[in-house]
Amino acid sequence: MTKLRALVTGGAGFLGSHLCDALLANGYSVIALDNLLTGRLDNLAHLHAEPGFEFQQRDICEAFDVGRVDYVFNFACPASPVDYMEHGVETLRVGSAGTLNALEVARKHGARFMEASTSECYGDPLQHPQTETYWGNVNPIGPRSVYDEAKRFSEAATMAYQRYYHVDTRLPRIFNTYGPRMQVKDGRVIPNFMDQALRGEDLTVYGDGSQTRSFCYVSDEIEGLMRLAHATEHDPVNIGNPGEFTILECAEKVLQVTGSKSRIRLEPLPQDDPKQRCPDIAKAKTLLGWEPRIDLETGLKLSLDYFRKAVRERSAQESTSRKTSGD
Ligand code: UDP
Repeated sequence: MTKLRALVTGGAGFLGSHLCDALLANGYSVIALDNLLTGRLDNLAHLHAEPGFEFQQRDICEAFDVGRVDYVFNFACPASPVDYMEHGVETLRVGSAGTLNALEVARKHGARFMEASTSECYGDPLQHPQTETYWGNVNPIGPRSVYDEAKRFSEAATMAYQRYYHVDTRLPRIFNTYGPRMQVKDGRVIPNFMDQALRGEDLTVYGDGSQTRSFCYVSDEIEGLMRLAHATEHDPVNIGNPGEFTILECAEKVLQVTGSKSRIRLEPLPQDDPKQRCPDIAKAKTLLGWEPRIDLETGLKLSLDYFRKAVRERSAQESTSRKTSGD
């Protein structure tokens, strides 16, 4: 029997690469695409000799076809606020032209389609916790709008391809996720704090640290996504961990898990930084029989070896480049 073939756009990214692993483990052959704007080949290095795996460096904003596929997972998009604000226009493009191109591939091959949507669709939410029926509170012109509106457009496009062309679509709304393969310098809170704690630098808490986030460990997130991939639901489903922490609490957890003596330093809060985020996962529980199993402390411990190694490698790179530049 021929294997089912899955396409993962953004396959060299943090979530995309973990998804490739899960799909291969579930018996799919996988083709991963990435333009490597924020993704890294290191994330896929372990799949180099895997017979069912193929990688192509490609920008999905240009129309493309990769032959027969049974499932399209559209995970291509810068995801860290620092990255998407630096690459604002690319983010808008990949969430619009890129998503339409990926949907066209699914339509052409009669493949199922999953769009990696996000809790950013809720903006700075006035409803707490957030249920899927909440329409959100998004600033359409603020600095985060390049990401938020691109993802909201992607949701609209996904629903339209389901309504008009009967593409079999899935819309997970992914909340903050962390774990191995995040770049230490990607600017998101957990890699930042881990990096700072392991280097003995101050942990930079933005604002007064009272804003909240709900952090899902990557293996739980991928398990939820895989279950949704195989369920029959077109409407959005929150996939996240409802354990909610203030950013100050998150900093303290990182200090505790790393055993670091770093101090906490308050820095200005970025514009439109959401004050609270917490998924209501009743729908995922009922529909998928899924809920996260790994709490923040356990997930940070599971991530520690990866971050230690990543910080060591980066320090070595920095000292080599200092030597070559003669500083
Ligand atoms: N944050 C922080 N210090 C950092 C990085 C982020 O206090 O070094 C805060 C940020 O202001 C936000 C939260 O941590 O309130 C989560 O930020 P992140 O960039 O990880 O993702 P977001 O949920 O905002 O997309």
